[in-house]
Amino acid sequence: MHRLVSVPDKPMKTRAAIVYELNQPVVVEDIEVDPPKQGEVLVKMVASGVCHSDLSVITGTILNPRPIVLGHEGAGIIAEVGAGVTSVKPGDPVMLTFVTPCGRCSYCTVGQPNLCATHWGAQPRGALFDGTCRYHKAEQSFYQMARVGTMSEYAVVSENAVIPVSQDTPLDKAALIGCGVTTGVGAVMRTAEVEAGSNVAIIGAGGVGLNVVQGAVLVGAAKIIVVDIVPRKLAFARQFGATHTVDASKEDAVEKVRELTDQEGVHYAFEVIGNPRTIEQAFHMLRMGGTAVIVGIAPSDANISIPAALFPYGERRLVGSMYGSARMRVDMLRLLDLYRTGKLKLDELITKTYTLDQVNEAFADMEAGMNIRGVILYE
Ligand SMILES: [Zn+2]
Ligand SMILES: [Zn+2]
Repeated sequence: MHRLVSVPDKPMKTRAAIVYELNQPVVVEDIEVDPPKQGEVLVKMVASGVCHSDLSVITGTILNPRPIVLGHEGAGIIAEVGAGVTSVKPGDPVMLTFVTPCGRCSYCTVGQPNLCATHWGAQPRGALFDGTCRYHKAEQSFYQMARVGTMSEYAVVSENAVIPVSQDTPLDKAALIGCGVTTGVGAVMRTAEVEAGSNVAIIGAGGVGLNVVQGAVLVGAAKIIVVDIVPRKLAFARQFGATHTVDASKEDAVEKVRELTDQEGVHYAFEVIGNPRTIEQAFHMLRMGGTAVIVGIAPSDANISIPAALFPYGERRLVGSMYGSARMRVDMLRLLDLYRTGKLKLDELITKTYTLDQVNEAFADMEAGMNIRGVILYE
């Protein structure tokens, strides 16, 4: 849809979606934005996905300093670059990553930029590399969710957080690669490395879960069994390639998955909710030698209980997946290519669009299970 190649005007103010207090409506208001400093860029946002992790910042399940500008899944156009920036120039379309890799730490160096120590150890969380913020109002400074804060007309981010794409890229679709698509597809292709012909179970058919389904289809999984309690989401799952669906409000999900796999269990089970009980269920769905992958983010004080003997007896594995174990600068562009060649669904993920001022409506729709992905579009 977008072929924006003109360089936007330099703003002094930006309209942004801000969390001041937990569990209160998001405040949309104008704040001041600084120009980008050394190694930073100013992005004029085109689209921002509305992800469950944004809601987790509002509720405090994911704890962040406040006030904070929401949003971590987006795409836009470079409006201005700070000193020393060479990888992009004004007018370049870009996708944003929700982990800003430093490129030098022991994780980045061995090809795990999704685990960048500088990003996850950032103090305070939500500030840029130099520990300061670019958004202000009077005396107050504002943090940026995941050091991007895509729910703002303009965002100042590190050069390392933007991935340039070609001028003809539909940025409203590409925005989704910033979180949900890479997290879901990557969990299958990178974290678990699912082999063709494997049987897979997926618990949770939300925006990320459906991308786990897409990943399973891409690698040629045999049975793709999707578990949820919302019939609408199970219907979406079938549309995205699920071979079987299980309504866990009506039947026992573990028993049903065993029944569908000749009582053996699946080779891979993905938990995409972040609930201790469904994580345990994912583990109990495994056949011997199977791997359960935790994608969903549980509250930090939540614990799981699994019989310890089941790990050696049957060589079962339980692993976590963050950002689909992505090497963002490679994998996000590959996902875009899979979309361009018709192998990855992005259009179908977007079920409703909103203006930034409608952001609270977008979260209400999310809580009601209305959307696969709601997307905020900017002017
Ligand atoms: Zn997200
Ligand atoms: Zn790093």
